[in-house]
Amino acid sequence: MKILEKTMKNVIKRNPGEPEFHQAVREVLESLEMVAERHPEYVEAGIFERIVEPERQIMFRVPWINDKGEVQINRGFRVQFNSAIGPYKGGLRFHPSVYLGIIKFLGFEQIFKNSLTGLPIGGGKGGSDFDPKGKSDKEVMNFCQSFMTELSKYIGENTDVPAGDIGVGGREIGYLFGQYKRLNNNFTGVLTGKGLTWGGSLARTEATGYGLCYFVEEMIKAKGKSFKGANVVITGSGNVAIYACKKAQELGANVIALCDSNGYIHHACGINVDTVKQIKEIDRKRIKEYISYHPDAVYSDGCDGICNIKCDIILPCATQNEIDGQAAKTLVANGCYAVAEGANMPCTPEAVKVFRENGVLFGPGKAANAGGVATSALEMCQNSMRYTWSFEEVDTKLKNIMKDIYQGCSEAAKEYGQENNLVAGANIAGFMKVAEAMYAQGIAY
Ligand code: GLU
Repeated sequence: MKILEKTMKNVIKRNPGEPEFHQAVREVLESLEMVAERHPEYVEAGIFERIVEPERQIMFRVPWINDKGEVQINRGFRVQFNSAIGPYKGGLRFHPSVYLGIIKFLGFEQIFKNSLTGLPIGGGKGGSDFDPKGKSDKEVMNFCQSFMTELSKYIGENTDVPAGDIGVGGREIGYLFGQYKRLNNNFTGVLTGKGLTWGGSLARTEATGYGLCYFVEEMIKAKGKSFKGANVVITGSGNVAIYACKKAQELGANVIALCDSNGYIHHACGINVDTVKQIKEIDRKRIKEYISYHPDAVYSDGCDGICNIKCDIILPCATQNEIDGQAAKTLVANGCYAVAEGANMPCTPEAVKVFRENGVLFGPGKAANAGGVATSALEMCQNSMRYTWSFEEVDTKLKNIMKDIYQGCSEAAKEYGQENNLVAGANIAGFMKVAEAMYAQGIAY
């Protein structure tokens, strides 16, 4: 980096102790160096300095009462990163690892991801260090209501539209929506991922996982390959992993492994996705339970070993930085030829480097997992029309969006002399639209 090195240095200085945010920014700025060379007007207008600084960051206390009657305190966040092309849009993450740096990295990624969808949505993200694991429904409801009591002051259907992420699914969106409506006396599309009887979109639940597979189909088709007969490892076992597994199987793949934060299951004859749904979505238990339904599957403690399983394609769908350089080397040595990120930033920069150097096809998260937020934007669209599309209509739109994203990324990569580099392509294509909008809208002094 030459032109943008100073921007990177400033980001590190102004955001100390936030390594995930630095990592996400570095990856984008590295790809944008050539854009800065070709567009001195963007450098002059401070677009790069402005895009790495959130428009607004909100941090708040979330007090709630647990089942024992004890007062609990968590911290809530909403980072409204960029509204150049539409209202802030992005999920809420409830996980004990959440702190400002995680929300900033996710919000930053969301700007480019949302731009790539081709739909009018800006970038934002939020969440809390609340851990839903082991909590009763009542405790989750208490927490969500308190969280929304504060968050409701900053969001709105035309301002900022949150959704789910890790730890936030249909149950949480329901409690959050109920509280927003209670406080505002207003039934609007202020959240996405809603239930089907109260403004949700068909296919939103499936969208991130399905979209990931549609993206992979395009990516591997360009090299004459397909899902048919491929051995696929998927990390995670949440919403993204479950529906990626289902779609990959429908497309003819043999999905042989899944994991959660405690360990992984290897089922050589193929994962039974209904069992996983029962364990994770209904019983809210650990993936270890899988072997009590399928004794021919093998469970191992710890997650590292999942990358030792020989596969053709791996879809990391768990969380950030789960695949490191060493795991990438093992995957390459075992013949893995394609990787696509269902989670946000699951591969470390070292892992991405190993994949690139070995000619492994690599679909970065901001392109490959954009199907979720794209379908959220379709949910917003249906809410505005007070109308609903059929599952097939939404799914067809999603498929076309994922094809367009793949196309847009490969063309941008080619245009900037980086053929086949979808990381660069996604960053450049995502950036250009936002930069143009920011440039046109001027600077407020
Ligand atoms: N959390 C998801 C993401 O990372 C979905 C966000 C949304 O639907 O707004 O893109």
